[in-house]
Parts: sequence; structure tokens; C-alpha cells
Amino acid sequence: MTAADLDAADPLAHHRDRFVGAETDLVYFDGNSLGRPLKVTAERLAEFVTGTWGGRLIRGWDEGWFDLPLTLGDTLGRVALGAGPGQVTFGDSTTVLLYKAMRAAVAARPGRTEIVLDRDNFPTDRYVAAGVAEECGLTLRWIDVDPAEGVRPEQVATVVGEQTALVVLSHVAYRSAWIADAPTITALAHDAGALVLWDLSHSAGSVVVELDAWQADLAVGCSYKYLNGGPGAPAFLYAAQRHLTTLTQPVQGWIGGADPFLMGPTYTPADGVRRFQSGTPPVLALGPVRDMLELVEEVGIEAVREKSVGLTEHAVQLADELLAQLGVEVASPRDPALRGGHVTLRHPSMKAVTERLWQRDVIPDYRDPGGLRIGLSPLSTSYAEVERGLVAVREVLAQLG
Ligand SMILES: *Cc1c(COP(=O)(O)O)cnc(C)c1O
Repeated sequence: MTAADLDAADPLAHHRDRFVGAETDLVYFDGNSLGRPLKVTAERLAEFVTGTWGGRLIRGWDEGWFDLPLTLGDTLGRVALGAGPGQVTFGDSTTVLLYKAMRAAVAARPGRTEIVLDRDNFPTDRYVAAGVAEECGLTLRWIDVDPAEGVRPEQVATVVGEQTALVVLSHVAYRSAWIADAPTITALAHDAGALVLWDLSHSAGSVVVELDAWQADLAVGCSYKYLNGGPGAPAFLYAAQRHLTTLTQPVQGWIGGADPFLMGPTYTPADGVRRFQSGTPPVLALGPVRDMLELVEEVGIEAVREKSVGLTEHAVQLADELLAQLGVEVASPRDPALRGGHVTLRHPSMKAVTERLWQRDVIPDYRDPGGLRIGLSPLSTSYAEVERGLVAVREVLAQLG
């Protein structure tokens, strides 16, 4: 089928018009790094400043602001994480939440000496784990992976044991888009007595996540990628209900305490997932995330995922037809069941290709080694856009020789 046929048959195609910039010819292949804003967000942000903030002032804290990280956390859990209420909160960056979650997990497994992780995880995950290991006197136990794939359960099975405190992995790999077998890996870690922390940065709003069904312990992720929360939008954290009376995190701020307005002499953690908060909630910054979650709920995450698979299948097919003869390889899983929302195309010239594409208003991003990442945010990307972009890649590669 042609891109035009695919767009005509796409039941979600009309949602693209809800995003700023949909009417231009720009090809956006980086919604997995910074999602496009929704048009409604511009209106709602302006209304928030002049109406709610400007009018309600400090009364706003009692009128929903204070609980917003938790109420929106419940929405995210229901819409995109397969998580029941009371287990998800928003705040901080993913990096800071990784720190809090890792410290909470290793403190809950005293006497165990290792954190298991893979060499191809996103840098911040590896760096934070190294810092926590140093602080707590632990050792990092590395898994080597093929950068065009990701971590397999067999690899986890060979390294976990009675020394393992925590396993930290990305559910969807940022380089290849490999989807890890989260339920199997979680069960393997639990059999060894360890906890598991899933990074959902490339999953939330793109693939189906079932944290409760996986029996996950902890998870964190970004809201500026497929959740379109805007640059630096607050991250989210999930902690399973069964851990909420025992897990504690080290940034003991007043808002995560049992009764913030008691202003008491010492810190006692709040009941529930609010214990993972530290300071004043980022109310202003959560508006755009709420807008996108409303849209994802309206469409349904299964339908979003179906479109995502359609877009990445189209990209792989075009790469085979247009780019393979120029030496381009697909460095993502070919089986759509193992592939998240982006496709990485590998060629030694891709760094230079990316620079030229940006000048032509075709915007993918580049990741070593030689990887052009084609991120296809399902609700804001059309099949025609995929085709225009990959035709441009062919033209630029041919010019570069
Ligand atoms: C994007 C991403 C992050 C980003 O962390 P920040 O603290 O928001 O900069 C972390 N982990 C993974 C796996 C990511 O893809």
C-alpha cells in the first residue's frame, strides 16, 4: 500500500491536526525525544496563568494543585502503565527519580552486594547506578548486549543470584527500540530475591505496559517523549502497592513527609507513593502532560500501539526498498512484537546525513554507532511524513556518496 492509502485507512489520522505544526511540510522523526505540543495546551497554559494561578492564587494548593502529582499519576497508571491507583507520582527529572528509586531498592535488600544492569542502557541510568553503588558500597554487574537488539531473559538469568539487590533495565531500548520481556525478567529477578526497576522513558504512551500484571517493583520514565509534556517536563515514578509501607528514599523533603503542614521536628515518610516526592509539586509543568493523557485515554493505548506498529513497519519497508542498496542496515528488531516506537537505520555517513536533513526540515536524530533514529510518535505522525522523510534520507545519502 502507498503512504496515501495507509493514511486514508488510518482511523487515528485526524488526531494529527491537534498538534502544533501539523499543517507544515516539516517531517518530525523525533517525537520519541521531544513530542510536539498539542494546540489545546497553548490555550490551557494561557488560561492557567490568567485564570487559575492569577485568580485563585495560594487557594489553588487546596483546590487540586497539592494532589496533582498523585491524581495525574493515577491517570497515567490507568491510561498507559497498567497500574492501579495510588502507585504513581510525578515530579523531578527521570535522573533524580532513578536515584531515589535505586536508593530505595538497595536499602530494602540489605546484605546484597550487586546492581545488575546492561552496558547499552541510557547513560544517565548507568551513571546514577554507578553513583549509588559507590555511595552504598555495591558492585555493578554488567550484561553485554548487541546494540541492534537488547537484554534477553537468558542473559539476566546468568547474572542474578543471592548477591543481587536490584536489576535496572529499560523496557524499550533507546538505541534499537528492542522491547525487553519484562514479565519474564521480573520473575527471574524475584526468584533470586532481587527487586526490579524498569525505565519506561521510551515506553510510556507508545507501547502497552502492564506494571501490575508484571509484578514490577519500581518504574520511572519521562513525560516529554511520547507523553508530549514539553522540554524538561516532570518525570513519573511507580512503586508497587506492596512496597509502599517499607520503601524509603533519601531526599527527605517536607512534601514527602507524613504531614507537611505540621512543620514537625523530624521527617516521617508519608503513607503511599507521596513518600517519593520531596519538594513543592511542579503544577505549572504538569499541564501539557495532562492534555496528552486525555488524548491517549480517548484513543486508547492499544490503538496507539497499533498505529505505532503500522508506522514502524512502513519505515522498515521503505528502508528496504529505498536505502538498502545504498548500504543502510536496519539496526532495530524486524519483528514488530519486539520493536517499540522507533527504527534505527545504520550507515557510516548518518551523522553527516542528520545535519543535512535538519537543514531541509527533516528532523530525525543521530546515535552512535552510525545510527539515524526515526522516531514515529503515533498520534502526531502520518504515513506520508514517513515516506517524505525516507525519500529525503535517500537523496542526501546519494549526494554524500
Ligand atoms: C530520555 C531518557 C532519560 C532522560 O532522563 P532525564 O533525567 O529526563 O534527562 C532517562 N532514561 C532513559 C532510558 C531515557 O530514554
